Amino acid sequence: MSYKNYPMVSRIVFGRGSLNQLSDIIEPKRLNTKAPFIFLVDDVFQGNSWLTSRIPTAYDDTIIFISANEEPKTSQVDELVEQIILSHKDRPSGIIGIGGGTILDLAKAVSIMLTNEGEAKDYQGWDLVKTPAIYHVGIPTISGTGAEVSRTTVLTGPEKKLGINSDYTPFDQVILDPELTKDVPKDQWFYTGMDCYIHCIESLNGTFLNAFSQTYGEKAYDLCKEIFLDNNLSEEESQDKLMMASWHGGMSIAYSQVGVAHAMSYGLSYLLGTKHGIGNCIVFDHLKEFYPEGVKLFKQMKKRHNISLPQGICANLEDYQFDIMIDVALGLVPLWENAIGKHWNQVITREKLKALYQKM
Ligand code: NAD
Ligand code: ZN
Repeated sequence: MSYKNYPMVSRIVFGRGSLNQLSDIIEPKRLNTKAPFIFLVDDVFQGNSWLTSRIPTAYDDTIIFISANEEPKTSQVDELVEQIILSHKDRPSGIIGIGGGTILDLAKAVSIMLTNEGEAKDYQGWDLVKTPAIYHVGIPTISGTGAEVSRTTVLTGPEKKLGINSDYTPFDQVILDPELTKDVPKDQWFYTGMDCYIHCIESLNGTFLNAFSQTYGEKAYDLCKEIFLDNNLSEEESQDKLMMASWHGGMSIAYSQVGVAHAMSYGLSYLLGTKHGIGNCIVFDHLKEFYPEGVKLFKQMKKRHNISLPQGICANLEDYQFDIMIDVALGLVPLWENAIGKHWNQVITREKLKALYQKM
C-alpha cells in the first residue's frame, strides 16, 4: 500500500477586501515587461468597476471576459491558449482566474496547456501532465465547489467529461476574499453551496473515509448546517464561513472521493448540459436510500430557502439517451467504489440507474 503524496496550494490570503493586494502579490512574479499577466474573468463582472478597477493591469497585461453559462470544454481551453499565444510574443508571467468553478477550472487548464504540447483532451485523466504549468492564481467569487483548492480541472471533451488531475493543477496562489461573493443570486448561492454540502456527505459516508478526510469533511459539514439551516449568521459571517466550508470540503475529497450524486450528475451534465451545482441538487434529492440523513437535511435546507428544483428533466428522454447517461455514470468507477464498496456493481445495475434518472 502506498499513500498518495499530494501537492497543495502554496500560498493563500484570506480576508474581506484582500483582492486589493493582488498587485503586490503578483508583481514579483512578473518575468519581464513583455511577459503579461492574463486575467480570465467571469463576464458577469464586465462593466462592474467595483471589481474590475482592482484588477491591476500594466504593460501587455490582458483581461479576457468569459461567460460561465456553460461549463468549460477542452476545445475552449485550446482556443484560449491559441488566442494568448498569438497575441503575445512572450509566454505569460501568469494566469489569474476570477470567478466561480467554471472560470477557476479554465484558468488552471490554460496555465497547464501553455507549457504542454497537444490538446487539452489529451490530458483528461490522472497524472498525464509532463511539464509544470505557468504560475496561476485563483480568486473565487462564489463558494462551494472547492475548485480553488483541488488537484483537478473538470473539462468536457469530445469523448468524456473528466478532469485533468495532476500535481501541476493546483493553484500557486489563492486569494479568498469573501466580499467578492456578495452579489451572487440566491438560487445560485444555494446550488453551488450545496455542491460543498454534497462533497461532505459523499466523503463522510464513503468507504474511502480516513481521519484526514473526516476532519475536513466534518468541519465543512458543520459550517454548511450553520449557514443553510441554523440561520443566525449575519450576511458577512455567512459569506466568510461558506468560503471556508468550500475550502474544507475540497480538502476532504482530496484524500477520499465523491459518490453517487456526482456520478449521476456527470451523466446529466454530459447529455443535457445540466450545470454542476444544480445537477447535483436534482440528483441528490432522490438519493435517500444511499444518504438518508444527508438527504433529509438537504430537503430541510431547500424548504428553508424556498428553492424549487426543476422537475421532469428526464421525462421525455429516449432509451438511447438514458444509456448515454448511464454509461457516463458507470464509467466513474472510483466514485462507486467509494460510495458502495468494492462490489458496487452487484448493487448498481443499469436498471437501477435508469429508474433513478426517470424520477428526475
Ligand atoms: P459557475 O462558475 O458556473 O458560476 C455560476 C453562476 O454564478 C454564473 O452565472 C456566474 O456568472 C455567476 N457568478 C459567479 N460569481 C458571481 C458573483 N460574485 N456575483 C454574481 N454572479 C456570480 O459556478 P460554480 O458552481 O462555482 O462552478 C461550477 C463549475 O465548477 C463546473 O464547471 C464544475 O465542473 C466545476 N467544479 C470543479 C471542481 C474542481 O475541483 N475543479 C469541483 C467542483 C465543481
Ligand atoms: Zn462537486
